[in-house]
Amino acid sequence: MKRWLSGDDRRRREPEVYDSVVDGLKRLYRSKLHPLEEFYKFHDFHSPPLDDPDFDAKPMVLLIGQYSTGKTTFIRYLLEQDFPGIRIGPEPTTDRFIAVMYSEQEGVIPGNALVVDTKKQFRPLTKFGNAFLNRFQCSQLNNPVINSLSIIDTPGILSGEKQRVDRGYDFAGVLEWFAERVDRIILLFDAHKLDISDEFRRAIEAIKGYDDKIRIVLNKADMVDHQQLMRVYGALMWSLGKVLNTPEVARVYIGSFWDQPLQYDMNRRLFELEEQDLFHDIQALPRNAALRKLNDLIKRARLAKVHAYIISALKKEMPSMFGKDSKKKELINNLNDIYGTIQRDHQISPGDFPNLARMKEQLQHHDFSKFHQIKPKLLEAVDDMLSNDIARLMQMIPKEEEAQFEEKRVKGGAFENYEESPFGIGRGEGVDKGRDEAEWVVNELRYEYDEVFDKLNPTDGKITGAAAKAEMVRSKLPNNVLGKIWKLADVDRDGMLDSDEWALANHLIKIKLDGHELPAILPKHLIPPSKRDL
Ligand code: MG
Ligand code: CA
Repeated sequence: MKRWLSGDDRRRREPEVYDSVVDGLKRLYRSKLHPLEEFYKFHDFHSPPLDDPDFDAKPMVLLIGQYSTGKTTFIRYLLEQDFPGIRIGPEPTTDRFIAVMYSEQEGVIPGNALVVDTKKQFRPLTKFGNAFLNRFQCSQLNNPVINSLSIIDTPGILSGEKQRVDRGYDFAGVLEWFAERVDRIILLFDAHKLDISDEFRRAIEAIKGYDDKIRIVLNKADMVDHQQLMRVYGALMWSLGKVLNTPEVARVYIGSFWDQPLQYDMNRRLFELEEQDLFHDIQALPRNAALRKLNDLIKRARLAKVHAYIISALKKEMPSMFGKDSKKKELINNLNDIYGTIQRDHQISPGDFPNLARMKEQLQHHDFSKFHQIKPKLLEAVDDMLSNDIARLMQMIPKEEEAQFEEKRVKGGAFENYEESPFGIGRGEGVDKGRDEAEWVVNELRYEYDEVFDKLNPTDGKITGAAAKAEMVRSKLPNNVLGKIWKLADVDRDGMLDSDEWALANHLIKIKLDGHELPAILPKHLIPPSKRDL
């Protein structure tokens, strides 16, 4: 008897072993969160149940913008290839949602077929009806970029008069569905035609809960001059401030994401740096996907808990016999107070509650007497998941990331160019110059540096800090910069510079004067060959 008990005890306490973070998330969802969701009709109110493809899917990037802001062109820029069904032009050309996904075979799958494919994550989109499905497709092609992530192109949002055309489906609802599931949302704006239509504003509002996924691209920035660009940038931030909760956290990338010549060339350098940052951000998505899925599941579990409290509170107030209808009306009217009570009783922040107006609207269609009372076991399972299981999965992430670092980096397309050619930012320039050359790059102007060095009266082949300083200030660089250069150049830290170190100091001054950044630590290829073994 005793043995049996302890055996049972062990089985209950021993944590489950998961093959991967994603495997763990799937199993936790099914065993702990899904039962709570189902019991309180979470799926009718907030989001359909999650399926294996939701967890297994490649990371997704969602592009949103008014028409002609360059969404489709942006995708083509990344892939360096057209995709099946691509249409680009000044008028609204993309009239549909297009999931650009990897496949050996090129082709187009229409929306109606897409939502019955059990291997894909789009099944729940059925609920948006035929008007939507006719405007939804998957463009498949064999391209290395989308082998690591899928990209969702969306219909251009119209402005002004043209916007009155009814789409015939819940456009904002579809965007929200995607926003919940994607890893990154890129909002595109056109620097030379910045206007934010009502529909676009509604679109931004639909994705508001996913602020942390949003990045902003101010595209076509080469079409305006520097002064106009600064003005547009200010106007954009001001407009976003009115729509997004926290516009200051959304990173704005300024650039020109297509393959045409720059109209105003003066910002080339800025565009390159911005592109590099944006590419880094996109490249890291596959690596961060497990963490993103984990975060989304936590968010979902918290909403499911609040939802359970709301539904059970409503049920508790319902009379068993008469006056159900009038009670229901009363409860819906007082939903705000019910939120307040739950907030206080369970210490839940107001931000975790579902939108009040929408909840009221949805409740109209439900029979409250069919709701369930609170069932502590279901909530305890979710609490246990949040406080124990999730923490264990979290610990698995760094290891998994490390193991998959190379495999999961986005490669090919535009990413290849910028990594492997001299036109990629930072390649062969500044501190990076000479990285792959056998010759020490500092030798290039060695004769000039040596000439000055000899004039500074070296003793035992070295010059003093004072002598070096007197010469270095002629660069007109500020003292803090020169101080940093001194520290980098005095490789052996003896407080003096030999001719190699002096040449290095001059090389670093040149790098700075050319407008590049200094390194925090001297990269190996810049260390004088004589000192590389130190
Ligand atoms: Mg388009
Ligand atoms: Ca030295």
